[in-house]
Amino acid sequence: MDMLMKNAVVVTQDDDRRVLHHTAILIKGDRIAAVGPTREIEHANPQVPVYDCTGKAVIPGFINSHTHTILTVLRGTVEDWDGNAVYGYMSPVSYTMSAEERTVMAVLGVLEGIRCGTTMFVDPFRHVTSYAEGMARTGARLLLSENCADVNTLKIRRGDYSEDREFGQTFLDRTVEGIERFHNKHGGRLQIQIAAHATDNCSPWMLDQLTALARKHNMPRTVHLAQSIEEVRQVRARWNCTPAEFLDHHGWAAPDVIGAHWTYCTEGDIDILAEKGVHFVHCPANSSRRGPHPVRAGYIRDRGVNVCFGSDNMTEDLFHTMKIGLIVHRGSYGLGIRPQPEAIFDGMNRNGAIAIGRLDDLGTIEAGKKADLAIVNLRNPSLTPVINLVGNLVHYGHPGVVESTICDGEWLMRGGKVLTIDEQALVKEAQLVTRRVWERMLAQNPDIPPPRPWQWIET
Ligand SMILES: [Zn+2]
Repeated sequence: MDMLMKNAVVVTQDDDRRVLHHTAILIKGDRIAAVGPTREIEHANPQVPVYDCTGKAVIPGFINSHTHTILTVLRGTVEDWDGNAVYGYMSPVSYTMSAEERTVMAVLGVLEGIRCGTTMFVDPFRHVTSYAEGMARTGARLLLSENCADVNTLKIRRGDYSEDREFGQTFLDRTVEGIERFHNKHGGRLQIQIAAHATDNCSPWMLDQLTALARKHNMPRTVHLAQSIEEVRQVRARWNCTPAEFLDHHGWAAPDVIGAHWTYCTEGDIDILAEKGVHFVHCPANSSRRGPHPVRAGYIRDRGVNVCFGSDNMTEDLFHTMKIGLIVHRGSYGLGIRPQPEAIFDGMNRNGAIAIGRLDDLGTIEAGKKADLAIVNLRNPSLTPVINLVGNLVHYGHPGVVESTICDGEWLMRGGKVLTIDEQALVKEAQLVTRRVWERMLAQNPDIPPPRPWQWIET
């Protein structure tokens, strides 16, 4: 669309991190055509429809650099369960779900994200070809991937880590299908990347296959890394090295790789990953459910690693991610005020764009970039008084301060109303789908217990 947003406070996130006042943003089609003084830009573009941003700030749309939207289906269940939820619940549940059910839950995640000001979702999961199209219809920017493994992740909960190449091939087939059917669709808003699930469930053969696909299609790669003690143990037992060393030995410590978690990385591991240019996507809120995440975030930062953030499982609330992220990163330095909120905020936009090699296009508000924006209501009591805007957003922001979200030059939410999803119908459907999926999964897998006693609430 063509539109002139006027009288805004603009948090550009450009190289100088300028925060501009009384500023206009001219959108032409899917891109930002100009950013400058309202009077000048309005005068030069008298025909363009105007959106008055008086009392509002415009920030780059959040990039959620690591999420699994479908796992909203587990919300309110495994957060308080003491076990490995990845293999205990997250793997089996995705096999239990139908294409329609996956789509409903993925769209629920996107809906929550849009309400939070998120415009881009980096979402590795399973059976992506069954829901990519439905998810793309939300209008959000997507980087999806099939989370490949050639150890059968349905058997790991019973202690069986044996390699299963046939199982692995089904992931590779779906990756290829995903690339052929969905890469660069919806005007480039929907893209595919390459994902190895984790270091304990991918063999060197699988890593090599995936690297070949990434090279062939010029796509970034992602992997979960040193997420659990058990993962570290398995990699040591099978390959006699750490997860980071395992990735390095097989060409996965490289600047086109985004690694999630790094929880049990040693300083030596971090040295390798930093030197090879691997990007760190941290999911501090989800990783701190059992107490503050013990990752060496300070050491990672001091080694110059590019740090971006994701929400990971069961939530899309990136304000929550920022708050917990600030606490965890400060805690890793010892008590103090390093890093400052600006460094956390960088991880929500420009660093996410850097991680996927797209800073030329995304992550800041500058002429020529994609129009992926969120509008924040500065007259919200939670943000008042506004003295340090970025500090306020990190310390006190919440999804309720976001009034509009724009992606690829189109409104996803305008003045608090989501335009691309029938919100009430979707939320209702998601509640029904969740109950159906849980009942089916427990019936199909008698060894999986309900994680805690529950009571279904009618909505
Ligand atoms: Zn994850």
